[in-house]
Amino acid sequence: MSDQHSFETLAIHAGQEADPLTGAVVPPIYQVSTYKQDGVGGLRNGYEYSRSANPTRTALEENLAALEGGVRGLAFASGLAAEDCLLRTLLSPGDHVVIPNDAYGGTFRLFAKVVGRWGVEWSVADTSDPAAVRAALRPETKVIWVETPSNPLLGITDIAAVAGVAHEAGVKLVVDNTFASPYLQQPLSLGADVVVHSTTKYMGGHSDVVGGALVTADAGLGEELAFHQNAMGAVAGPFDAWLTLRGIKTLAVRMDRHSANAERVTELLVSHPKVTEVFYPGLPGHRLHEVAAKQMRSFGGMVSFRVAGGEEAAVEVCNRAKLFTLGESLGGVESLIEHPGRMTHASVAGSQLEVPADLVRVSVGIESVDDLLADLTQALG
Ligand SMILES: *Cc1c(COP(=O)(O)O)cnc(C)c1O
Repeated sequence: MSDQHSFETLAIHAGQEADPLTGAVVPPIYQVSTYKQDGVGGLRNGYEYSRSANPTRTALEENLAALEGGVRGLAFASGLAAEDCLLRTLLSPGDHVVIPNDAYGGTFRLFAKVVGRWGVEWSVADTSDPAAVRAALRPETKVIWVETPSNPLLGITDIAAVAGVAHEAGVKLVVDNTFASPYLQQPLSLGADVVVHSTTKYMGGHSDVVGGALVTADAGLGEELAFHQNAMGAVAGPFDAWLTLRGIKTLAVRMDRHSANAERVTELLVSHPKVTEVFYPGLPGHRLHEVAAKQMRSFGGMVSFRVAGGEEAAVEVCNRAKLFTLGESLGGVESLIEHPGRMTHASVAGSQLEVPADLVRVSVGIESVDDLLADLTQALG
């Protein structure tokens, strides 16, 4: 599949030639661990053992690379497995990483409680300010980590500007593109070295599979990452790869609807007397709205807001919602609601990444927007 094709076409076809054996139009689930060799070392198409490579996973990996405009995609058992592989490929004891002051709680926990124990130094910066990122650099800095939009405060980082800061200093820029998906934003084209995904979210899109991905436009780095993926072993299984590929086919139409519904939700929230602040990069009042508009096609389905009356009032809104299902995760076709302070971001309590106690986060799904607005209205009381 030529990378001349538009995104919607690549999403459906990249990495997915008809099966050579049967003509099956979607890649079969190769639920297999090992492959017959034609004489010792005589591998058929390079397949030897499914940790190293599996045809269903290969289809997903080629698809991911095409969608992000990279040359190498790698699929993992979860987003955090992808992050772990990336960090242990790029870093050694004594190296330093700049991490955002607003990041997915599990990413922060991986730095603070796991990688940090192995002698990797990290410090927190406001990545929405390129000067603050530059100020956080040390001689030992090897990686700048960015999440945009960020979880759960929908902060925006100017990817091209921070890529400039990184490359001036000989540092690699990693962008967690989970909230946007490659349909809304392509960090590699803006100068990022590696894109990270929790494919559990918008890429899979149906709340039925956990997975992660890395994509790079640097073939040499892609080889190093593939070496570590095999050496560390946290690969996506064939069925999970197949489900993720199936989800990706509709990514473009889903994202269009997620963004449109989220815009309507923010209109309701902004004018609601019980809501004191709304976080959404599509709002003209968002501090980096112009940057978001420059680097994103539309603004996605994630919205956070603060509720008048504090933590208990915010928890009550979550408990009263009916169509918005109370639960962690995001990016599926169904709408979800949660209280980050007590749920997804409990692991950042007491740190520089602590989130407001009166914050509610919604993942706006693709149901009828009128039904969603009615449910939020009754939940806000
Ligand atoms: C969920 C999430 C992750 C972690 O991915 P898992 O698939 O849950 O391991 C990383 N980054 C962001 C922004 C996420 O939302």
